[in-house]
Amino acid sequence: MSIATNEHITVEKIKKSKLDQVDFDNLTFGKNFTDYMFECDYKDGKWQNPTIKPYGNLELSPATKVFHYGQAVFEGMKAYKDDQGEVFLFRPEDNFKRINISSKRMAIPEFPREFFFEALHTLVQLDKDWVQPGEGNSLYIRPFAMATEVGVSAAPSDEYKFMIIMAPAQAYYTGDVRVVIAEQFSRSADGGVGFAKAAGNYGAQFYPTNLAREKGFQQVIWTDAKEHKYLEEAGTMNVFFRIGDTLITAPTSDRILDGVTRKSVLKLAEHNGIKAEVRRIQVSELVEAAKNGTLKEIFGAGTAAVISPVSAFSYQETVYDIPKQEDSYAKRFKKELMDIQQNRADDPFGWRYPVA
Ligand SMILES: *Cc1c(COP(=O)(O)O)cnc(C)c1O
Repeated sequence: MSIATNEHITVEKIKKSKLDQVDFDNLTFGKNFTDYMFECDYKDGKWQNPTIKPYGNLELSPATKVFHYGQAVFEGMKAYKDDQGEVFLFRPEDNFKRINISSKRMAIPEFPREFFFEALHTLVQLDKDWVQPGEGNSLYIRPFAMATEVGVSAAPSDEYKFMIIMAPAQAYYTGDVRVVIAEQFSRSADGGVGFAKAAGNYGAQFYPTNLAREKGFQQVIWTDAKEHKYLEEAGTMNVFFRIGDTLITAPTSDRILDGVTRKSVLKLAEHNGIKAEVRRIQVSELVEAAKNGTLKEIFGAGTAAVISPVSAFSYQETVYDIPKQEDSYAKRFKKELMDIQQNRADDPFGWRYPVA
């Protein structure tokens, strides 16, 4: 095992790449991981020993706090390779800031900027061959942090682990998504952790999402916890509504995650002269628009699928189908975003970030 050190990070080299064992034409999202991972521990009041090493299992005590109290946060970002073999990230500064915003809410110490970016650069360089060029292909990057102190006392941990793992991903077509509008369950509440990418936010959504699945729907659109009157977000994606030719999305708040894709769509809308309103939108307004034919589109926006068009929604036992649009905003934003991400178009907003 050869050990090389760059500015802060120690690198332990793999003996042999697993690259030839991967079928890039048949990838299941998030199942195959690259050769390397990043690991850094928080101990004695500071983040230390940042290391890149061969991807592998962790050994943790069953009393490790994260298992008991869910003190954990994560991020999701992607790297893309263009036809010349250059690799780019998309707005990584936003992911860096956001993981520290999430960490603060979960009482996890802030992670240093230089470690985060040095880790990303080094990892992506080492695993560069895992990033496939071509339409929709990418390397999904998952930074996360968790409480690693051993002991089941209900107090914040004094030890943490920050890690980054990476998985090659294909253009992923979710198909048209059918959604249920939440009438009983809630994802987040005022003063809660809805704005944070906290692990437990996802755990809490699985049960209501399973109920929706049993009825033939794939996702839930969450409403405000107080009255279930306002449309908020899709849980792993922010959500947009097109009524007439106006795009509407809820404002971010302590209940709604500030998505990078969401803000990029809003910027592109402005750039394209599409009228966009960031305001609270009532379920009744959506139902009315569906009934009178002015509801043209609903789509989700998030890093994993970029844009996911919604084909129908269910509310109070009634299913409303959304007719296919010739001039679809969802399609247009998806193409424009992917063209920027994969370096096929100009980048007027400086969103591309070369890494390797
Ligand atoms: C990650 C996430 C999103 C999408 O954010 P992006 O930065 O666009 O990937 C939206 N909502 C929730 C709850 C999320 O966790």
